[in-house]
Amino acid sequence: MRRDQNPVRYHLRVMLRPDATDAEKQALWRIIRAGKIDEVAFFVPHVGEHSPGLGTEDECRECVDSLRPTFDRLREAGIAPSLNVWWTLSFSDFPALRRSLRDEFDFRRAVSADGRESCAVACPLDGNWREYVKGMYRTFAQLHPARLWMDDDVRATLLTLRSACFCEACLGEMERRTGREFTRQGVHPHPARAGRPAAGDRPRP
Ligand SMILES: [Zn+2]
Repeated sequence: MRRDQNPVRYHLRVMLRPDATDAEKQALWRIIRAGKIDEVAFFVPHVGEHSPGLGTEDECRECVDSLRPTFDRLREAGIAPSLNVWWTLSFSDFPALRRSLRDEFDFRRAVSADGRESCAVACPLDGNWREYVKGMYRTFAQLHPARLWMDDDVRATLLTLRSACFCEACLGEMERRTGREFTRQGVHPHPARAGRPAAGDRPRP
């Protein structure tokens, strides 16, 4: 059966850092061949314990340059190369990260329904965040991935806050779209159900 006729597709998600050794690259290809992998999604620009938070512009560009030969080789082998963007909406989630970007990015931070300003999550309506993320995805799109996955820091209930954003701008947008007036207290009658506060969150009036 030809690869494109197989009803089952095998996807591999993996990180290939710019400083990956030849031995690591060879090991990756052994896995791809042994697993009859149909598509490889690369975490970018870093992942898990190697991730210090949202990627800087330089890190994203370096990542694209380092992956380009692997993308070419995968396409020649009939295997689809994809990307999985690790951070998009949150920029520094864990207090123990070795690099905090909280003071480097000028993003408005999200506010939970019970009035906590996140130490880690940007407001999805913030113009600075939107511009930065547009540029980041534009950089990754240069690789023409078969798929461009977003990871789970982009969700209706924002990571760490366990709530949508209820900053003044988001409340104003809710009013604009519905014609109704909203307050944070009004949209969140059960504060006890709010998420566990993250270290660094700040109370908001
Ligand atoms: Zn907001």
